[in-house]
Amino acid sequence: MGRILDGKAVAAELRGRVAVAAGVFASRAGRKAGLEVVLVGEDPASQVYVRNKARACEEAGLRGVVHRLPADTTQGALLELVHGLGARDDVDGILVQLPLPKHLHEDAVLQAVPADKDVDGFHLLNAGALFTGREGLVPCTPTGCMRLLDHAGGDLSGARAVVVGRSNIVGKPMAMLLLARHATVTLAHSRTRDLGLLCATADILIAAVGRAGLVRGDWVRPGAIVIDVGINRDAQGKLVGDVAFDEAAERAAWITPVPGGVGPMTIACLLENTLRAAWRRKGLPPGELTL
Ligand code: NAP
Repeated sequence: MGRILDGKAVAAELRGRVAVAAGVFASRAGRKAGLEVVLVGEDPASQVYVRNKARACEEAGLRGVVHRLPADTTQGALLELVHGLGARDDVDGILVQLPLPKHLHEDAVLQAVPADKDVDGFHLLNAGALFTGREGLVPCTPTGCMRLLDHAGGDLSGARAVVVGRSNIVGKPMAMLLLARHATVTLAHSRTRDLGLLCATADILIAAVGRAGLVRGDWVRPGAIVIDVGINRDAQGKLVGDVAFDEAAERAAWITPVPGGVGPMTIACLLENTLRAAWRRKGLPPGELTL
């Protein structure tokens, strides 16, 4: 039976370190580091996510503010808010909660967030920085997965990593982060042939698809580290990942549960990114921010 990679515990440690550093920031800057979250519409899941993000900010000594806009908000009004937040000196991070209502142009809104406040890491400058190995803000979920891999303590250099899912938010940045740590990375997707056989070659297997139970136990190489990013509801309405947990746990060395794995890490890394953005914007010495 594999060991559980406890995202809640690893996230709590990171949040503790962020809280200490947030205190240092506040004393040097004379104000708290601040995240502004923009929510358009009444999507129930999004409401819960933004509330949790704002609460996590406050608990870590950051300022977390939520802007709630009605579902019929125009593109112009949304851009005006984002530009306004972009211009404010006391705002260090801006997060536009996705998905946006269909009539809004998601990409134009995301690119309107200044790159140095783009705590989601979705701006083209940040994506380019990640692609070319430069410093930038990196998407929270893959950053959280890397922290979990480090917690498991596996040597990433030369390891065979298979990432299933190639979204801009999870799969692609995940592949870049693994590559930067010298893993040999294969990025799989809906057109990949013999996906099970490919996964069974992986020392590190990341599932970021959104299909309950897609990854079966016999897709897992004995001794592999399995990170399950997926969030799905099963037939009984229970929260489950992309990995058939019980089967996979029989073979994996380490495996993340859902819930309690990647999810808590995503929020902790959002706090980390907010603090990093604030630290950089204030010109504080980078070497003094150890997270
Ligand atoms: P997405 O944009 O829908 O991308 C899904 C990816 O999975 C696509 O690349 C797709 O391939 C691939 N795919 C779909 N069906 C497949 C199949 N049968 N076999 C292999 N690949 C398949 O989703 P996302 O935003 O990356 O999110 C993925 C999952 O992670 C979702 O469940 C989401 O809720 C969850 N998530 C969790 C967190 C967290 O904090 N825990 C954060 C973000 C996302 P194509 O490109 O070929 O279509």
